[in-house]
Amino acid sequence: MKKKTTYFLSLLAILFIIGGYIVYSNVKASQSVIITAFAMDTYMRVEIQGKDASKAGTIVEEEIKRLENLLAVNRTDSEVYALNHSFGKATKVSEDTLHLAKISHEYSQLTDGAFDITMYPVTSLWGFTTGQTRVPEASSIEEALLLTGMEKLFVEGESITLSEGAEIDFGAIAKGYLSDCIAGILDNYRIATALINLGGNVYTYHTKADGSLYNVGIENPLASDNSLLGTVKVSDKAVVTSGKNKRFFEKEGRKYWHIFDPDTGTPADAGLFQATIIADSGAYADALSTAVLVRGSDFARSLKAKRNDFEYVLVTDEGEIIASELSGFEKLK
Ligand code: AMP
Ligand code: MG
Repeated sequence: MKKKTTYFLSLLAILFIIGGYIVYSNVKASQSVIITAFAMDTYMRVEIQGKDASKAGTIVEEEIKRLENLLAVNRTDSEVYALNHSFGKATKVSEDTLHLAKISHEYSQLTDGAFDITMYPVTSLWGFTTGQTRVPEASSIEEALLLTGMEKLFVEGESITLSEGAEIDFGAIAKGYLSDCIAGILDNYRIATALINLGGNVYTYHTKADGSLYNVGIENPLASDNSLLGTVKVSDKAVVTSGKNKRFFEKEGRKYWHIFDPDTGTPADAGLFQATIIADSGAYADALSTAVLVRGSDFARSLKAKRNDFEYVLVTDEGEIIASELSGFEKLK
């Protein structure tokens, strides 16, 4: 009898220890960290949940700073600044810049030239880079356009050569690329779930902790009260928005915004007010959202028919919503 009681008590103790361990690991598993930063001209917020969320969060913070320092076009110590002041000489660059230059060529071809990182002389001319915005003379726009075009950017080995006078700006792809790099860090730390929000660039990492899909809000660009148009339900996806209302100025009753048509050197005006792209990669979604705003809804439809590796939610200048069938878009009632 005594033997049986001892056996029972030992079993109970073991169960308690195992139970305690499970509770402890669950507490550890639910560790939750929020990283906030101001970088790439935008407020960033990354919510991470997982056993090593805190460790991952520290590395994510470093990654945001690292890419900002590398890619900021207006920091005199950045790699992009060095390239833009290289006077036609081949310049050895980091793996990140090399990769971004290569995929920028790819995305330029894919979008029939609508995505063009060499548009910097044009955006500068309009004053978007300094904040001193103005409507330039048509002749100045023609001159600036002579300095643009992806053929001015050569990639060879580990070096980049920019033709004299040409300048690049990764502003239309950098945040998307950063979200991909952050997702890579979360992979390394086996993070359970995360929501990466880099201004208009959102990346949902896995599903929510309870296994349900994330609900990503899509702004109503034509409303003045920051209200939402609706949401997309997604997991493991980048949701990236470009819009005419993100940065603009008004002159003599007309609005001029920050996304330019590489063919004309004037603000893109293809009938869309806002373009949201949903895809596996942040860099891809970012490049496409800019390009679709430049080229319009027919372009989005035909590119999707060709590739079928993204979804879209578009808002026309008149406020009509055009969402691809599998976008997961739900209009707010
Ligand atoms: P996004 O908000 O991602 O659409 O990026 C817009 C930013 O990219 C602008 O503020 C410019 O710095 C730059 N940009 C403007 N037009 C283009 C273009 N056609 N292709 C690539 N980058 C552009
Ligand atoms: Mg973009």
